[in-house]
Amino acid sequence: MVVARVFGKSSPEASQRENDRLAALQQLDLLDTPRDEGFERIVRLIKQIFSIDIGIISLIDGHRQWYKACSGLSADEVPLDDTFCRCVVDCDEPVIVQDATTDARFLKHPAVTGEDHIRFYAGVPLRTKLGHMIGTVCAIDRRPRSFSSRDLVILEELAGAAMDRLELMQSAATDSLTEAMTRRAFKQEAEQLIALALRHQHDLSCIVFDIDHFKQVNDRHGHAAGDAVLKAVASACKATLRAGDLFGRIGGEEFAVVLPHVDRDGAVAVAEKIRAAIASQPVRSDHGVLHVTASLGSSALSIVSKEIETLLAQADAAMYQAKNGGRNRCVSWSSIHADHAISARRRVLKAGSILFNERRSTIDCTVKSLGAESAGISVSNTRGIPPEFILAIKGEGFETNCRVIAQDRQHLEVAFR
Ligand code: GH3
Ligand code: MG
Ligand code: MG
Repeated sequence: MVVARVFGKSSPEASQRENDRLAALQQLDLLDTPRDEGFERIVRLIKQIFSIDIGIISLIDGHRQWYKACSGLSADEVPLDDTFCRCVVDCDEPVIVQDATTDARFLKHPAVTGEDHIRFYAGVPLRTKLGHMIGTVCAIDRRPRSFSSRDLVILEELAGAAMDRLELMQSAATDSLTEAMTRRAFKQEAEQLIALALRHQHDLSCIVFDIDHFKQVNDRHGHAAGDAVLKAVASACKATLRAGDLFGRIGGEEFAVVLPHVDRDGAVAVAEKIRAAIASQPVRSDHGVLHVTASLGSSALSIVSKEIETLLAQADAAMYQAKNGGRNRCVSWSSIHADHAISARRRVLKAGSILFNERRSTIDCTVKSLGAESAGISVSNTRGIPPEFILAIKGEGFETNCRVIAQDRQHLEVAFR
């Protein structure tokens, strides 16, 4: 869906607040992290305490609301434009809507008029200790209802408990499902290995991979089968690695590897071994035997790429190229580099806009990685976005013409022109 909105409507203060909010969210590094039973329990509690249909804990980036936990709705994320929570972000305080059909702001909202049939909404900010709002905690119902000041206090307490758990999870080193390292622990150890490699001038490389069509596994066979696949993929990968390699789960179904003493070509060979190991391993589940594949991207330490964030961003870009090229394959960052003049990139988290149709059309996006000549961008849906457009980063005066060099359902790799 192409949403035409007036660009540049926000004040400088609002832009600054949004930038600070996204910086705090990036610092916590929690977007797209695995499901967690502790948060599932909090959303179930929300439903039970208020006797309502839907409970959500969400994190909000530049273009979407991503559900850390959700009970009562099937989606994992929704475009921010389509959510009630946008109001909580905009006004930076709790929002209560007793009956959406009598509230001028929401009565024509698709979630109200459509099959979700939302009537009641209470959302409170999910706030860090320093006061930055990184998401929301909401109680939602399909019938109108009232919400007392005591109810609001309880919802805010639950948001506090969710925030405490988010902060506590920062110290976890191992992912309980796959026994891979957590994203944070992986990055910390990777930085140490990189420092050693730079000091002693030896090679180091990085691989990122993402399971192909994993959503279908969950949708067709359920989350338990999805979890069995994740475990099997992790163990297939681990079996191909050496003792000194690092292996982390950096997203729900996204993993990363750091290979000390391995150069660019060596990384391509290891990636191919991991790909073959995953593709040839049948996964037994209650629904019979499942076959899965993964797409992999690799990158290597160099003078311009000497931070784990840069290596991950480059391997990520290569991985999206592998998805674009048909999946179940490996792509090296160096081969993209040969086709397009692309310099080093850093992972960032910035609210952006995609402008096209002579600036008449605007789509919200999140800029996930940025270099002098290229960027990686996430959107809710790449459909309808033309091959060339203007990318603007909100509140930073950044605007540049872009050309799409690879794309996935929700991701665009662009080169600046
Ligand atoms: P693609 O080939 O483009 O990667 O398609 P995909 O379906 O794998 O990609 P997408 O990112 O759309 O879907 C990833 C899904 O992974 C969404 C989410 O429901 C699921 N997921 C994330 N974490 C977990 C988890 O811990 N357990 C289970 N069972 N599913 C998870
Ligand atoms: Mg994915
Ligand atoms: Mg996937």
